[in-house]
Amino acid sequence: MLIVSMILSLCHVVAGEIALSFDDAPTQGNSFMSGMDKTRGIIEGLKSNNVKDAIFFVTTGNIVDDKGKERIEAYTQAGFHLANHSHNHLSANKVDVKKYLADFNQSHLVLQDYKNVLKLHRFPYLHYGSTTDVRKKLEKHLNGMGYKFGYVTVDNFDWYINGRLLSAHHSKKVIDFNKLRQLYVETIWQSIHFYEQLAKSHIGKPVKHILLLHENELAALFIGDLVSHIRSQGWKIISPIEAYKDEALNVYTPEFSFNKQGRVAAIAHQKKGIAKTKLRHESENAKFLDKKLEENGIFK
Ligand SMILES: [Zn+2]
Repeated sequence: MLIVSMILSLCHVVAGEIALSFDDAPTQGNSFMSGMDKTRGIIEGLKSNNVKDAIFFVTTGNIVDDKGKERIEAYTQAGFHLANHSHNHLSANKVDVKKYLADFNQSHLVLQDYKNVLKLHRFPYLHYGSTTDVRKKLEKHLNGMGYKFGYVTVDNFDWYINGRLLSAHHSKKVIDFNKLRQLYVETIWQSIHFYEQLAKSHIGKPVKHILLLHENELAALFIGDLVSHIRSQGWKIISPIEAYKDEALNVYTPEFSFNKQGRVAAIAHQKKGIAKTKLRHESENAKFLDKKLEENGIFK
């Protein structure tokens, strides 16, 4: 692996490019890790690996006290960017347009108190609205406020593994952190590879990816390991600002009906008619991950 990455760096060949994004900040602390430790862990993991920029999609309703505020400010002080992930994490597929947009407006106002905010909105659950008409109305309002969509290209189930970690902690199981790290890094890397192959097949070229992660305990523990692994494969970590400029991906229209696996999958479905079942990596599945956790004896 080392030799491969050395050859790639000597030839200045970049195997792929990806920006990092973290959703739901600031997520609640718990007996496993306080909220502030989570933030510190993520910042330390990124800075010590020389990641210059990343984007945190803030769910502003999660900012319940001064500590929450401090955590969000810590990300901007470290040079990272913020963007909008709603106030109450509503699903645009489940609530009406008026309610969704009132919630969006509220988060827009809260974020005005912070620095380094990019006018990008990421739909919770990647739910863009269940009909073309709804998606049109949402787009019109968001664009009217100067926002673009904070799309992702690489989906994964980091949130599910994280949930299993927290429940293992609560039930006082022994946690094999080395194996947990391996599972986290491997499954996310496989998802990156999967969506890169989809881009090559259905968009016809590599794209500037945006990895969906969550501001969770796993990221606080292992983001540095994930960054090292991505780079060891010859990939470059790029800024979200640069990633969001990729013209091949900025082709969304409200006719796009399948958005919850990310933008590459959305394009493959909409423009090439690829079946939804082919646009999801096998690790985006609770049973698959339960089996991996079991086989590797990660929680005992
Ligand atoms: Zn979310």
